[in-house]
Amino acid sequence: MLDKAKIEGFKAALRGQLIQQGEAGYEEACKVHNGMIHKRPLMFARCADVADVITAVNFARDNNVLVSIRGGGHNAGGLGICDGGLVIDLAPMKWVHVDPVARTIRAGGGTTWGDVDHAAHPFGLAVPAGIISTTGIGGLTLGGGLGHLTRHFGLTIDNLLGADVVLADGSFVTASADKNADLYWALRGGGGNFGVVTSFLYKAHPVSMVYGGPILYELDEATEALKWYRNFITKAPNELTGFFAFLVVPPGPPFPEHLHNKKMCGVVWSYSGAMDKAEEAFKPIRAFKKPALDFGGPLPYPVLQSLFDALLPPGLQWYWRADFMNELSDAAVAEHVKWGSAMPTGLSTMHLYPIDGAASRVGKTDTPWYYRDAKWAQIIAGIDPDPANKDKIVKWAQAYWDALHPHSAGGAYVNFMMEEGEDRVKATYKDNYARLAQIKKKYDPNNLFRVNQNIKPAA
Ligand SMILES: Cc1cc2nc3c(=O)[nH]c(=O)nc-3n(C[C@H](O)[C@H](O)[C@H](O)COP(=O)(O)OP(=O)(O)OC[C@H]3O[C@@H](n4cnc5c(N)ncnc54)[C@H](O)[C@@H]3O)c2cc1C
Repeated sequence: MLDKAKIEGFKAALRGQLIQQGEAGYEEACKVHNGMIHKRPLMFARCADVADVITAVNFARDNNVLVSIRGGGHNAGGLGICDGGLVIDLAPMKWVHVDPVARTIRAGGGTTWGDVDHAAHPFGLAVPAGIISTTGIGGLTLGGGLGHLTRHFGLTIDNLLGADVVLADGSFVTASADKNADLYWALRGGGGNFGVVTSFLYKAHPVSMVYGGPILYELDEATEALKWYRNFITKAPNELTGFFAFLVVPPGPPFPEHLHNKKMCGVVWSYSGAMDKAEEAFKPIRAFKKPALDFGGPLPYPVLQSLFDALLPPGLQWYWRADFMNELSDAAVAEHVKWGSAMPTGLSTMHLYPIDGAASRVGKTDTPWYYRDAKWAQIIAGIDPDPANKDKIVKWAQAYWDALHPHSAGGAYVNFMMEEGEDRVKATYKDNYARLAQIKKKYDPNNLFRVNQNIKPAA
């Protein structure tokens, strides 16, 4: 049992705020991006600095309190928060330092991708990240990180040069290719299993303007579009990335009125090569067929990165299911068209993110991300603002996933999984699981950090 004096001592030792059940700010703190998650932690330590993180880890461990680590709060399974435990909330640790000469970027554990893009863009630099700027760098990086620059520059983990970490025993270490190399390996895909990352060091790339945006087709052209896409993207130059989507056109500008609320399919493109070559790169896309909507054009990288933010504010209901795909057979295409046409709500969607190109040039055991030869990470996301539609979006996503799963490579991107159990985690890390379990045993032998896609310490 936690006595009052211990909690008071903990509170006094923090530079940041401690928020307990019943106190002002508690209900707000419980909210994560997914409005379907309703966990009730005992308290939140809003850590102001590394010292606070060390204090919080020591407090949780010494008092046998369940602990979760919260970066950006975007995890769909709500794994940044926990029932009846302590949330180590890194949100106040939001800062970015750009080194334009070395082309590196260091950012605090609670930073979001929008913060990184904002700081990097004036220097003409970017780090490969996800496609929504409000996502935390913490969870996204530690799980892998895929988005508009994946085919050109690899996953986010392929651009992670090092990390500062508070371990389960309260010690502070740096992990990089030459310091604690085993930990550095594990952090590049092994999630929040190994400690609290207080800062990340990334390699940045010269990306300033990109050429891209959504190009959409009618739903009755979906079979043709998906078959064309599967052949085109896997042979396209690496500077070009495009994720295929089934979606409902939002009912507002800049979309033309005649398309509002219409179910459609298409690709959200991004070309990050030389701008004077962009139109050329888009020629085969435009030659495929005349789209119903073509928003492809030049735009600053941070604009592309935040293009969909307004559609996905915090608090929506989210239920998603994922798989890796090696190929898209005609039979899989037929299932996609069937279930993509049956999207239950205006925000529900299916995305196929290409993970070939630069991401596939890293070896299967070079990082924990085993599925380096998969062609796509597929995500089926049931989304809606109304909790009354929960069953509808869950049933659709499950049925869609059931239909496609037999066509999958097995396993799934950990950041696109909800709480799906140990077998699924093992299927995802495959041959890398045993090595991760050994490293977990070394750095977190008692599994203090277990609110995540958990890797159990080796026996
Ligand atoms: C709207 C939306 C869009 C998304 N788009 C993409 C995308 O384009 N590409 C992509 O790859 N993923 C995407 N994701 C998935 C995203 O990568 C995961 O949801 C990820 O877990 C979010 O990280 P977070 O820090 O915001 O989450 P949180 O909920 O705060 O944390 C999730 C988990 O990450 C771990 N963690 C977080 N920060 C730290 C830290 N500093 N140290 C140690 N452990 C930490 C913890 O174990 C925690 O359980 C998206 C998610 C959403 C909701």
